[in-house]
Amino acid sequence: MVDLQGQYEKIKDQVNTGVMNVIESAAFVNGPEVHAFQKELEDYLDVKHVIPCANGTDALQIAMMGLGLEPGDEVITADFTFAATVEVIALLRLTPVLVDVNPYNFNIDTDAIRKAITPKTKAIVPVHLFGQTANMDEIMAIAKEHDLYVIEDNAQGIGSNYMHSNGSKSKTGTIGNVGTTSFFPSKNLGCYGDGGAIFTNDDDLAHTIRGIVNHGMYERYHHDVVGVNSRLDSMQATVLRAKLPHLDGYNNARRDAARKYTAAFAGSEKIITPLVCDNCDCHVFHQYTLVIKDANRDELVKHLQSKNIPCGVYYPIPLHLQKAYTSERYNEDDFKVTNQLVKECISLPMHTELDDEQIKFITDAVLEFVK
Ligand SMILES: *Cc1c(COP(=O)(O)O)cnc(C)c1O
Repeated sequence: MVDLQGQYEKIKDQVNTGVMNVIESAAFVNGPEVHAFQKELEDYLDVKHVIPCANGTDALQIAMMGLGLEPGDEVITADFTFAATVEVIALLRLTPVLVDVNPYNFNIDTDAIRKAITPKTKAIVPVHLFGQTANMDEIMAIAKEHDLYVIEDNAQGIGSNYMHSNGSKSKTGTIGNVGTTSFFPSKNLGCYGDGGAIFTNDDDLAHTIRGIVNHGMYERYHHDVVGVNSRLDSMQATVLRAKLPHLDGYNNARRDAARKYTAAFAGSEKIITPLVCDNCDCHVFHQYTLVIKDANRDELVKHLQSKNIPCGVYYPIPLHLQKAYTSERYNEDDFKVTNQLVKECISLPMHTELDDEQIKFITDAVLEFVK
């Protein structure tokens, strides 16, 4: 699905030198590399504060702790996302409220958000799924109307530009009260281990979060709040510093590959290709995900596997049907889109090193099965 070796070959010298320097400096934790990366990411995202942490799941949890959400508070998020999003809500004893997504961009359905709001609702967590921006203007309007926090799960969307209805653009993750991301190796900006970060323009929230990531300490050995230990290490920061200047190039390479995939599938009525808008860079194609109509998706998976073509089903089971997250409040009729997508979606290999020959081999194999 990804080609991390091919990508590494092109930045090898810088990564190797950086990692050796970290080892020689012995500044393994919270060293100058982490600080430099933080500043560089703040500049790239045009956001006031980046707080690095250990992974994208921690980032979500810490964001929710930072906002002071309390047990029983309801948090609305998408039924169709990676489990980490809902896991941290449940872990903090908040109440997850899963809602359906849009069929056209796989992102949280704003009408469904409105329907799910109760007096206990405190926050909305949109996920920029597969690298496509959620409908942020509408989500922010709902949040304002009902006095809710917005936490953007940007683990799959780093580098996306959301175009507001007035034509201006913002980087995803910087629009809500707080945004989070993951630097897991296969993400669009991935390190060589685990890593994550939290973004915000709110000075007070940034201060609170900087303490939470460090055992609730604002002054050495004074623990004002219950915190966690969640750090990005210096070696990962070095890798991320080598990659960040290439992030736009990486995302463009993904968009190019997506364009070629989509062109190849143009003639098929059974294949629905991802929505891409004109003159807009709102999709960074963390995944290239097709919806297969009137054909057996599971057989297609087997067909591709028989040709040694990797593919993925993200995600095969709606979160509201997962044992850990079922609830009596849910009604199957409210999850029509997710219930369908889990049967029909398939993600093809997507990374920065795909060449025309590989794309042709993959698209030919898909078209051989779904005419
Ligand atoms: C990867 C991912 C996460 C979790 O990130 P980790 O670094 O693996 O903890 C959270 N949300 C979404 C949508 C993700 O894709």
